Amino acid sequence: MTVTSPLTIRMHEADNVAIVANEGGLPAGTTLPGGLVLRDRVPQAHKVSLVDIAEGAPVIRYGVVIGTAVQALPAGSWVHERLLRMPEARSLEGLPIATVKPPAPEPLTGYTFEGYRNADGSVGTRNILAITQTVQCVAGVTEFAVQRIKAELLPRFPNVDDVVALEHTYGCGVAIDAPDAVIPIRTLRNISLNPNFGGEVMVVSLGCEKLQPERLLPPGSIPLIDERAVADVGTSAGTKLDVVCLQDDAHVGFMSMIESVMRQAEVHLERLNARRRETVPASELVVGVQCGGSDAFSGVTANPAVGFCTDLLVRAGATVMFSEVTEVRDGIDQLTARAATPDVAQAMIDQMAWYDAYLDRGRVDRSANTTPGNKKGGLSNIVEKAMGSIVKSGSVPISGVVAPGEKARQRGLLYAATPASDFICGTLQLAAGMNLHVFTTGRGTPYGLAEVPVIKVATRTELARRWHDLMDVNAGRIADGELTIEEAGWEMFRLMLDVASGHKKTWAEHWKLHNALVLFNPAPVT
Ligand code: CA
Repeated sequence: MTVTSPLTIRMHEADNVAIVANEGGLPAGTTLPGGLVLRDRVPQAHKVSLVDIAEGAPVIRYGVVIGTAVQALPAGSWVHERLLRMPEARSLEGLPIATVKPPAPEPLTGYTFEGYRNADGSVGTRNILAITQTVQCVAGVTEFAVQRIKAELLPRFPNVDDVVALEHTYGCGVAIDAPDAVIPIRTLRNISLNPNFGGEVMVVSLGCEKLQPERLLPPGSIPLIDERAVADVGTSAGTKLDVVCLQDDAHVGFMSMIESVMRQAEVHLERLNARRRETVPASELVVGVQCGGSDAFSGVTANPAVGFCTDLLVRAGATVMFSEVTEVRDGIDQLTARAATPDVAQAMIDQMAWYDAYLDRGRVDRSANTTPGNKKGGLSNIVEKAMGSIVKSGSVPISGVVAPGEKARQRGLLYAATPASDFICGTLQLAAGMNLHVFTTGRGTPYGLAEVPVIKVATRTELARRWHDLMDVNAGRIADGELTIEEAGWEMFRLMLDVASGHKKTWAEHWKLHNALVLFNPAPVT
């Protein structure tokens, strides 16, 4: 169903603008329900002034000042980004700290999925052999080996879903001892330990690289490998790590390297193949949420539905991570107020302050975030985008903060501090231990990851229809009046359990759409 009568959506009673919901927008002269007549043509998802807004007066959406009017905006005007002056970023001083005390969310019990229980207690939603690489130099060789493993070995191990090379662009150029180099290193370490890889860590190394295998995965960092496993793969002396080193004297010629990688892979594949799914509580889900290619509907349909689902997941005892520093920076006061404790609020402020300084070093600020597509989609600036983005976090208290590249060590709603870049955010959420990914989009992106299922949510029916074999959920039905936010949230919750169980594949899995891992490296390159 598509909306045919003029429809605008206002998010908060204090708002003096609303967005046009109709596909194709509305022409000048259209009379809205309530009698307001449009002075300009207003594209879909773009804002219209509901009252006369004087030059210099605030423009309010989500109950928040998203800017001030550059010129007078009589009621019925198209309000776009060139007509708004963006407010200054909220200072990190004097923020409300853990002031919101919502009633303890009612526990949600009885929901389960079929997952792979790991030795460390974590649960995988897929059963994948991942091959870690210490340096980009080995990427071509590893990929060659992976193609042969897929063709020659994988058919013998039907319980294993895939073989994935954890390729990255890290080379010796990175100033490895710089303080910030700890971020890419721990990211790569923690991704190797993602629950979907079953603790079967194997590494391909070149030999001469700065990031030696023992530095990447020091003794004790792989709690899952037992003595038997080490004996099986015959690791080098003094380390429990299973490493194929290409510069090893034993390798004469290219095929020797490939056969070595394949031989080691076979040992891991055998163990992965013996694993079986078992019924586990929904609390074992570790869901990373993010958005990309956002439009003004993101904060009206898809993100509020994800937010409702976030509340359901947290009530079920699961972990949900929301991220994207620059897309929540303008809502910092809402976040610190929702922190479960003052320590959590302080950890968020620390992450924001670090990121402010990081952007400042590059002589930009959070306003560098918005794209031409965002603006075409009706988002005037980062403040408006942030208000729509933050609703993915639902309404439950924020119980922890995960620094970039760190592993999440507690349940509940967590703020995982990451850049908003889809690939870097996904990579860091993988490192944090994500076993299911939810991605909302308004403009449309075919995003997918090899390491974890990605459920994509369209903000508009028009996108869901056009990209019918790429979008898993159509949250546009909320704007069409077919579905409430609550119904969409529940639908998403049930879909997550189905996808996590392997009963259902996402479109990105179906087509094998795999974006690259992108390490966040704030350290200098030499
Ligand atoms: Ca993003």
